[in-house]
Amino acid sequence: MASVSTTTPGADWEYAPAPESREIVTIRPEYGLFIDGEIVPAASGESFTTLNPASEEPLASVAQAGPADVDRAVAAARRAFDQTWGQLPGRERAKYLYRIARAIQERAREFAVLESLDNGKPIKESRDVDIPLAAAHFFYHAGWADKLGYAGFGPGPRPLGVAGQVIPWNFPLLMAAWKLAPALATGNTCVLKPAETTPLTALLLAEVITEAGLPPGTVNIITGDGSTGAGLVGHGGVDKIAFTGSTEVGKEIQAAVAGTGKRLTLELGGKAANVVFDDAPIDQAVEGIVNGIFFNQGHVCCAGSRLLVQESVAGAVLDRLKRRLATLRLGDPLDKNTDIGAINSRPQLDKIEGLVAAGEAEGAQRWSPPCPLPARGYWFPPTVFSGVSQSHRIAREEIFGPVLSVLTFRTPEEAVAKANNTPYGLSAGVWTEKGSRILWMAQRLRAGVIWANTYNRFDPASPFGGYTESGFGREGGRAGLAAYLHA
Ligand code: NDP
Repeated sequence: MASVSTTTPGADWEYAPAPESREIVTIRPEYGLFIDGEIVPAASGESFTTLNPASEEPLASVAQAGPADVDRAVAAARRAFDQTWGQLPGRERAKYLYRIARAIQERAREFAVLESLDNGKPIKESRDVDIPLAAAHFFYHAGWADKLGYAGFGPGPRPLGVAGQVIPWNFPLLMAAWKLAPALATGNTCVLKPAETTPLTALLLAEVITEAGLPPGTVNIITGDGSTGAGLVGHGGVDKIAFTGSTEVGKEIQAAVAGTGKRLTLELGGKAANVVFDDAPIDQAVEGIVNGIFFNQGHVCCAGSRLLVQESVAGAVLDRLKRRLATLRLGDPLDKNTDIGAINSRPQLDKIEGLVAAGEAEGAQRWSPPCPLPARGYWFPPTVFSGVSQSHRIAREEIFGPVLSVLTFRTPEEAVAKANNTPYGLSAGVWTEKGSRILWMAQRLRAGVIWANTYNRFDPASPFGGYTESGFGREGGRAGLAAYLHA
């Protein structure tokens, strides 16, 4: 598929396509489950198809794990916890984690191409963000494995046991790394359920884990739909549930886990405010706004989906933002020039279209740059709504797509009140040249992560997580280790 340029018509030069080759990836026609160190078919023999969302081309048939498979995976993880992995000293666990980290780096191009094929995200994001960060998470946690006794958890911190981990489709390999690395570093064993639309990089990770020589059953990967996730959450042999995904499913999981004694962390949705003051460096702020909402097609829980801009500079910011958006290139995710890739699935595209239609119906003004969309696949152009009021659905609900809602404010107090007027509390951004104002805002914004003069920066050493409807618990840093240890 050719890349489609959104540059202004009449511009006198054009990018030539620079497609990354997909030759480096071998996609098998069928994939089984990874249980007890082996690839096995689902007990029921059922499977589902995973698609390339940029072309709707079927990529592979993947096993659909049912209750018997969940049972087998949890039993394998329990054996590994009791007999092998759970008995290893931290310095031995670290060696395996370092091996996984290095193998991800060695096979980075393969992982990046596979991620872009299965997810639809631009290769420059999978290559420069997802895969390097996934490796970084294993490196970082390898470093902790033999130092847990000195990390403030008491002299002999104990792992919880078997962790059941359910992850979404927006950062498939990276979310697998966020879940597996801290659990393994602290001595737990894992059963991981990737999202139905993006199972392939987790299954490639299973290959890496096998080559790294982890004892069978230490990591089990069971593919399937929401019913597989629900089966894992409800399984009596699991000690801890770690979930990233929608607030709606997070609430169901919290209800299912209540009273069982299982430990739980939930990383859910968001509707973050990206707040731009009149003293902010406007060009940098515009880059931050673009990165905040159009990175990964806006399929980001911490996306800066509400722009709060000080009224005196709103016109200038909006003008420059529109000029910048006209230079974004939407199209083939494997083209190294592409900025905006495909929407991950038909249901997600339907959800975005539905909320955008609601935005127009409620009276906000919709704008997109000239942006022809490819004929096949799931696509949505970068979209900006101005004239948005706080009661509009596009200002309240997580759209999880490339759609920005612009609101204005006059005073810092008003900015804080509007930023906090959301049921969520995951992240926020502040753009100002005054350090004192950054601290003043950070004290008042109710969000787990606050970026100052930047946006969407991630580091394994920095804890990530939210409040209220964005969930609870932290991933990354020392706080992330605590989520996998007995208090
Ligand atoms: P879900 O929350 O449904 O999916 C997240 C993961 O949970 C997937 O692996 C999913 O499986 C699994 N799952 C689904 N139902 C259950 C259940 N009852 N018990 C246990 N696990 C379950 O998100 P969706 O993919 O359906 O996306 C819907 C909306 O959620 C998006 O439009 C977006 O707004 C939001 N979202 C937010 C994310 C975030 O990080 N904040 C991430 C993903 C989505 P399966 O994939 O097979 O359905």
